[in-house]
Amino acid sequence: MAARLHRHASELPSLPLRLSASRTRLLEAANRPPSALRLRPKSCGPARVMAAAASATAEEGLKKGIAEFYDQSSGLWEDIWGDHMHHGFYDRGVTASIDDHRAAQIRMIEEALRFAGVSDDPSKNPKKVVDVGCGIGGSSRYLSKKFEAQCEGITLSPVQAQRAHNLAVVEGLADRVTFQVADALEQPFSDGQFDLVWSMESGEHMPDKKKFVGELARVAAPGATIIIVTWCHRDLLPSEDTLLPEELNLLNKICDAYYLPSWCSAADYIEIAQSLSLENIKIADWSENVAPFWPAVIRSALTWQGFTSLLQSGWKTIKGALAMPLMIEGYNKKLIKFAIITCRKPE
Ligand code: SAH
Repeated sequence: MAARLHRHASELPSLPLRLSASRTRLLEAANRPPSALRLRPKSCGPARVMAAAASATAEEGLKKGIAEFYDQSSGLWEDIWGDHMHHGFYDRGVTASIDDHRAAQIRMIEEALRFAGVSDDPSKNPKKVVDVGCGIGGSSRYLSKKFEAQCEGITLSPVQAQRAHNLAVVEGLADRVTFQVADALEQPFSDGQFDLVWSMESGEHMPDKKKFVGELARVAAPGATIIIVTWCHRDLLPSEDTLLPEELNLLNKICDAYYLPSWCSAADYIEIAQSLSLENIKIADWSENVAPFWPAVIRSALTWQGFTSLLQSGWKTIKGALAMPLMIEGYNKKLIKFAIITCRKPE
């Protein structure tokens, strides 16, 4: 296993005084194999039970942080950017005009479908779609309209789920697009239901990537397409065991701001998909295609409307805004990769 995840102490936002100690642990942990992929120790006993309890508590803290972050920030995002809470997709090297961003976000959806080989032939349209980490349901409504499909969206944020439902009502889609608060790692769906499984920029929040992909595969119907668009760290070189300390340091700051746990590389996702016997696994690095996005988000935050709304939307949102230049730094240093991973569940 060449690639390595690094771990992040997800309880950090509520425990600022423990920051440096946690960061030390983080660096130590970075030298270990990824939690999601690590071979489990054979022994059990008090130490293992305590470790499991600590990890469960950290996961609960993370989920609470994610829910509160999106509860607080989604309204502001929607006011300025609309209903898609994901990067836009742009032609490489092209300077985007201020009006291009909404179209670029729609294009992201279309490019992902095209890359995954989802057919435009109406007779092959997916009939049931799950939108895992649905935000305020922008993808759910778009996919439901495009394919005339039923769509189920899940999010950790009650505010998002309610807003997503309200927008579905306004658009006359409430009979086929539904939303609920649920955990992607324990989805409230029975096996094999969906013929398109969609995760647009939610994977980076998942503390256990193998469980995450395992759940996507479980709810997928035989032959279904699975699409994951997510933030990754760069693949490690064969000579490397972990990221560099300064790289980990940068990612830690981003994790604090956006409620992110372990990062992994695209190579890790391939390995997970292979371990689950998924087929037709494809990946691409779209980092250059999303390059205009964060500068545009920063520009929008610096408008009068953006700035005043930001100040009213709470500390978590402000902290997220302050971390935006770090995302640009991560992309510029080729540390952060914007990746798409697609695969198919065997028939
Ligand atoms: N896919 C949406 C929103 C992306 S924002 C869009 O493109 O517009 C990330 C989303 O992931 C948020 O809705 C957040 O609540 C959700 N999320 C993060 N962790 C999750 C989890 N464990 N279970 C369900 N949803 C989760």
